[in-house]
Amino acid sequence: MNATNKKTELLLLEERMALIKKASLEMYPNHPVKDIIFPKLVPRFTLDEVTLEDHYSEIDPSQVNLSTRIGAVDLNIPFISAAMEFSGESIAKVLFELGGCGIIHRDASEEDDSEQFNWVKSVLNHKPCLVTDPKSLKPDDKIKKVKSIKDEFGFDTIPIIDNERLVGILFTPNVDLEMTENLTKPVSNFLTPLRELKTVKINTPFSEIKHRLLTEPKCSSLAVVDENQKFHGIYFRKDCRWVNPIYYNNKPLVGIAISPKDEDLRKVDRALELGVGIIVIDSSHGNCKTVIEFAEKVVKKVKGPNGLIAVVAGNVASIDGYCRLAKVGVDAVKLGIGPGSICKTSDKSGVGKPMWSLISECAYIQRIIEDLGKYAPQLIPDGGLDTSGKVVKAIVAGGSLCMLGQVFASAQESHFAEEENAKKGDPTTYRGMGSIGARKKQKSNRHGYGKLSEEGTEGKIICLGPMKEWFPEFINSVQVGFGHIGAENIQQANLYSLFPHAWSFITASGQQQNSPSVKDASEK
Ligand code: IMP
Repeated sequence: MNATNKKTELLLLEERMALIKKASLEMYPNHPVKDIIFPKLVPRFTLDEVTLEDHYSEIDPSQVNLSTRIGAVDLNIPFISAAMEFSGESIAKVLFELGGCGIIHRDASEEDDSEQFNWVKSVLNHKPCLVTDPKSLKPDDKIKKVKSIKDEFGFDTIPIIDNERLVGILFTPNVDLEMTENLTKPVSNFLTPLRELKTVKINTPFSEIKHRLLTEPKCSSLAVVDENQKFHGIYFRKDCRWVNPIYYNNKPLVGIAISPKDEDLRKVDRALELGVGIIVIDSSHGNCKTVIEFAEKVVKKVKGPNGLIAVVAGNVASIDGYCRLAKVGVDAVKLGIGPGSICKTSDKSGVGKPMWSLISECAYIQRIIEDLGKYAPQLIPDGGLDTSGKVVKAIVAGGSLCMLGQVFASAQESHFAEEENAKKGDPTTYRGMGSIGARKKQKSNRHGYGKLSEEGTEGKIICLGPMKEWFPEFINSVQVGFGHIGAENIQQANLYSLFPHAWSFITASGQQQNSPSVKDASEK
C-alpha cells in the first residue's frame, strides 16, 4: 500500500455511492442494499468484542518491523500523539526519539500561535537523548551535595563543571555516601578526571553515539566536550537503549494540528517553511463541507513545488466520510467518533460506530479503491486505544498507524504532568478538547464554533513516569501480538483479518476470559 505510488487519480464523487453499495453487498450479503446503505441490523463490533486467532509463525517478535508511512513520511513505530493539550514540546521530542511523531496541539497559547511554533522549532532542533543541563556540581562542592542529589533524584553520574569546562565526572558508586567524614570532603577528591573519561565531539551522529554506548564496555555515559573542554551535555546509555529517532528531510519528525478555517492556512505556509512532516486537520466531524473543502485547499498547498507534508484529516465514523476525504487527496483519514477515553460525543449526539467494524469497512473500501487504480488514503484509528492488544486489533482491522491520547497523556512528558510536576505514580490531568476546562482556554473550538454541547470529560490519570521507561514494553507487546498472528510487518497484519477464522466475535464472558482474573498487586 504505497500511498505515493497510488496517488494517480482521485476517487470521483459519483463513484462513491456505487462503491459503497458494492462494498455493502459484498461485506453483508444477507442484508440486501437498495437505497438504504448498511441496514441498521448489521452487527458492528468494538475492538473489545473481537479477538484474534493465532496463526503458525516462525517470527521472533523482537524482529517484527513496525515501521509505517503516511504519504511520503516514514515512521519507525506506528504511533502519533492525539492533538490534545497534553501533546506539547516534550511529548513530541520523546516520540521523535522513539520513532513516532508528536502532533503539537493547536491551542498551545491563548494569546497567539507563537507557542505552537516555538514548540515545533524546539523539536526540530532537538538532539536525541542529549541531556544539556544535567545536575552538576563544582569541584569545591562538598560530597553532602552529591548525597542530596542522589537522595532526591537517584542520579549516579554527576558532571563536575568549573566555569563551563568539564573537570570530570563523579560516579556515586565510587564514593561511600554513608560515611560521615566523606560528606565534608570536596567532590574533586572523588571524581574521575576528564582525561580518563569517554567523550564525544559536538555533532557526532547519534547512531555512532548509540553504538558506542551499547557496545563499548564500561561506557554508561558519554560527555560532549569541545576542544576547549567546554561541556555541552551528556548522553546516558539507559536513555538510548530503545531510541530509534525518525527524521524527515534530515529534521526531527514533528506534526501540527490546525483548525479547518482559512486563517489557519498561514500555519500551513509556516509549517512548509520550517519543515514540519505532518499536518492534522482537527475536527470532531470530518465528514462536513467545511472540513472537506479546507482539506482540499491544504492538500493543494502542500503538494505543490514547495514541499511535501503528509495531510491527515478527520474524524469520521463512516465509509462515506472516508471516501469524501479520499476524493480530495488527503494522505490519511482519522477514524473514530465516540471511542475516546474522555469522549462524550456519542453520549451527547448519538453518533459513533464500533471501531473494529469502522476500521474494517474503511479498509475494505480502501482495497476496492486501490484495485480501481485510484488513490486511497491510509487509515488512522483514533480513540480508545489504551492497550497494546487493541492496537494490534486496530492494525489487523486495517489501520496503518494509531493515534493515542490517554496512553501518552500518562507520560511524565505530558504538558499537564510537567505543569503539575507529576512523577511516576502521581495523579495528573487528562481532559478532552471538548471539555469545559479545555474550551475555556481555546481560541478555536475543535467541536465547532458556538457549540454549547460539552463533548469531553476532564479527570485524573496516573502518571507512569518518563515514556522511555514504559513505552518500549507497549511497543514490544504489539510486536508479540504480530508474532502470534504470524505477521512480520504492518502490511501483513493488515491482511490478516481477511484469512478465514482470523477473528471471532466475543461476548462479555469472552471478554472476561481475555483479561486476567488475578489482578496485579499494584492495581486496586
Ligand atoms: P484516547 O486515546 O482514548 O484518550 O482518545 C483520544 C482521542 O479522543 C483524540 O485523538 C480525539 O480524537 C478524541 N477527543 C479528544 N478530545 C475529545 C473530546 O473532548 N470529546 C470527544 N473526543 C475527543
